[in-house]
Amino acid sequence: MTDTLTIALSKGRIYKETLPFLEEVGIVPADDPEKSRKLILDTNREDVKLVVIRAADVPTYVQYGAADVGVAGKDVLMEHGGEGVYEPLDLKIARCKLMVAGFPGARPQRPRLRVATKFVNLTRQYYARKGEQVEIIKLYGSMELAPIVDLADVIVDLVDTGNTLRANGLEPLEHIADISSRLIVNKASMKMKQARVRKLIDELRVAVDKRNP
Ligand code: AMP
Repeated sequence: MTDTLTIALSKGRIYKETLPFLEEVGIVPADDPEKSRKLILDTNREDVKLVVIRAADVPTYVQYGAADVGVAGKDVLMEHGGEGVYEPLDLKIARCKLMVAGFPGARPQRPRLRVATKFVNLTRQYYARKGEQVEIIKLYGSMELAPIVDLADVIVDLVDTGNTLRANGLEPLEHIADISSRLIVNKASMKMKQARVRKLIDELRVAVDKRNP
């Protein structure tokens, strides 16, 4: 793999929003991952391949060097912990906010606040920093349902327009972090493939700045 530069991306929003940036720096995939079942995509450049994986797996692939670089949401990076990767560039795409949400004015019925989320690690850290003891319940989706059926007092989730919260009678209560997608780089690749990785970062930075004057 020393001659190939492997880029890890997730399907959906990150792929769609990263594609124009890759095109701008001269990388065009040979297949559409939304249509193809291939997990490794060739590109117009013989030395560049894409791996298309689950969003939460991108930091792991990059951490262990299975991919040299990747694009991951800050939420996913915070949850992963970010070990073994550099985060040299904010791509300023897929922007949203990580929030605590719940019913406005609701008083917790339990001795400890119960929080439902798929972001167990970052939620634990957030409440530990506040010095608050909470009970965390891991869910894999539809967090908004948890307060409605009294599975939890509040949720920690991503909020974009706030429509999903509103549609379920919930409100954002606390802001944890602003989220956007970041370029991440394996620490060894940054040294071993320095010229190519630095060129990619620099060119992507120009593309990001052009889009966000
Ligand atoms: P909204 O109703 O616009 O506030 O969007 C909230 C829903 O979309 C939640 O289920 C979030 O998990 C999801 N969501 C919003 N923004 C993002 C993002 N940038 N990346 C991934 N999921 C998101």
